[in-house]
Amino acid sequence: MPCPLCGSSAARAAWRAQGVVFVRCASCGLWRQDPQPVAEAIAARYGDEYLAYETERHMDYRAISLLSLAEAGLRPEAAPPGDAGPGGERRRSVLEIGCATGALLSAFAEAGWKATGVEIGESMAEYARTRFGLDVVTGTLETAGVEGGSFDAVVATHLIEHLNEPRSFLREARRALRPDGKLFLVTPNSDGFQARLMGSRWRSAIRDHLYLFSARTLPALLASEGFDVEYLGTWGGWPAGMRPAWLKRPIDAAAKSLGLGDVMILRASLGARKEPVWKRTASKR
Ligand SMILES: [Zn+2]
Repeated sequence: MPCPLCGSSAARAAWRAQGVVFVRCASCGLWRQDPQPVAEAIAARYGDEYLAYETERHMDYRAISLLSLAEAGLRPEAAPPGDAGPGGERRRSVLEIGCATGALLSAFAEAGWKATGVEIGESMAEYARTRFGLDVVTGTLETAGVEGGSFDAVVATHLIEHLNEPRSFLREARRALRPDGKLFLVTPNSDGFQARLMGSRWRSAIRDHLYLFSARTLPALLASEGFDVEYLGTWGGWPAGMRPAWLKRPIDAAAKSLGLGDVMILRASLGARKEPVWKRTASKR
């Protein structure tokens, strides 16, 4: 299958992990699972077992996610980046795709935002409705039918790497945003220190991740779908539990300052649709 970022079919490296194969595009560097699982097989992965996994750690996850979103300029208690409307009286709105149990989304609802979730797993969507009283549609962003041009913020943390059509997701996210709205994405960074150190044993090289983006390939994909990346930050360096433990603090700090962190967050706005960065580079050769 060709690379969805640049269209090349050439691959230059492969990782085997958890019974699947990741190949790296020889042209643009995007890692992809090849072959990709079919949509039905993907949906089947987010049932009751996934709910149990999520509920075990979702409040920790909420705290970590709020910290990274704040770093990128999105805080439930503050006005979102962009225009909050005349006098600020308009109710701010957020759409979270892949909201799982709703733990993160509930922080926005509690702060007065109009909060909408989309979640593929029905048991998780139902949990979010009953536990947090959230408005959650079961499905994908493509099937959810959310109102276009209506959200100040579209948030997807640890989601885009699970999708087999990331471009179609970005187009729908673009459609859902207000003209001054912002997209926030959190995903593992395949150019980070941990990925380079661990290779196929990297904790994010797992069966559920269909793509492994980097601080280079995700901005290129966003640009090719008409987004302007306004902020990119990374965090996490030395793997937790890896020896020697004393290296964790300095390596984490170095990884963050060099943009080599294990996980990245991007904030993007709706810019003019333009050619992806790699195409401009390639045409100069
Ligand atoms: Zn490529």
